Amino acid sequence: MKSVIPGIMLAILTAFLMFNSIDAQPAEVNENSRAIEFPDIPGYLTLKCDLHMHTVFSDGSVWPDIRVQEALRDGLDAIALTDHIEYQPHQDDIPNPDGKRSYDLALKAAKGTDLLVIAAAEITRSMPPGHFNALFVKNINKLDQEDVMEVFREAKRQGAFVYWNHPHWTAQKVDGVAEITEMHRQMLDEKLFSGIEVYNDVTYSDEALVIARKYNLAVMGNSDVHGLVDWAFNVPEGGHRPVTLVFSKEKTVAAMKDAMENRQTAVWFKNTLVGSQEFLEPMIEAALEVNRIGRGPVPTLEIQNHSDANYILENLSEYTFHNFPSVFILKAHETTTLMVKTLKSRESFKLNFRVLNTYIAPDTHAEITLTVQ
Ligand SMILES: [Zn+2]
Ligand SMILES: [Zn+2]
Repeated sequence: MKSVIPGIMLAILTAFLMFNSIDAQPAEVNENSRAIEFPDIPGYLTLKCDLHMHTVFSDGSVWPDIRVQEALRDGLDAIALTDHIEYQPHQDDIPNPDGKRSYDLALKAAKGTDLLVIAAAEITRSMPPGHFNALFVKNINKLDQEDVMEVFREAKRQGAFVYWNHPHWTAQKVDGVAEITEMHRQMLDEKLFSGIEVYNDVTYSDEALVIARKYNLAVMGNSDVHGLVDWAFNVPEGGHRPVTLVFSKEKTVAAMKDAMENRQTAVWFKNTLVGSQEFLEPMIEAALEVNRIGRGPVPTLEIQNHSDANYILENLSEYTFHNFPSVFILKAHETTTLMVKTLKSRESFKLNFRVLNTYIAPDTHAEITLTVQ
């Protein structure tokens, strides 16, 4: 009996110390490891954005300040809360008379941080045309009207950037194949939308990427989260939400709008990058820092990957490697040693790769060149 009491006390003391030492860990430890990281490219900032999310002001389950806190933890540069205009099931509990309560509250919550918050709403219609997000909106109530074409014309009058959400959503398109209808064609003729989601939540659409290319639309990829980002995308296990990368001259709302109108976007989700060659290729090249640590006919290189992607490279160079076959991986935030058989000692040489986890079209990957001095 006597020995049990000190045992219990020791357990309590241990638990107390453990609890306190865990509590004493700086909060940034976790926040940094989950921040989404891609480098800027020459002439542009690479802004990490989630431009499709819901709150209690439509059918989401969280207050807008939680969306801001999640975004700060994920290292995002900009967010848009896109509550449904036509579907607000909590309206009796939580009034939202001007449709922009979530924006106002998020803006207030983001004050003092460098997170940009964009005024937005989701135009929620049956197919066709389906759901669309209007970003940079000025008056959401004016978008709440019967005639669907008039809604889009009003968004255009307000200077909004409008994009097609989840065109492949099986609730509205049972076969999951994104498809342009006559109504979409008319909307495109009137320039009523300028972007399309290729990733939405955990789903992807090759057909949406084909549509983006055919009609010159900005590719978008967003969480469309209704609950918590951590639960929806398994962040504690290393997961992350889909994000739209916006290649912008500056980190301002106006510059972001310009960038999206010029189709300067890409999407990052589940180790895949989708977007235009013009921006993806320089971004991957900017992420890879090459240091030569040996000379002779088989020089050794150290390639540091300063981004979140594990780049799956296929060798297109004239040389082969001494420590890898033609396909190998440059792991995220790690340094990979590569031994190149240049056959003779060379002052400088180039390596070319196809990056297999990127898509500039459904069957085409980005290609990069690394110059070794
Ligand atoms: Zn939707
Ligand atoms: Zn939505």
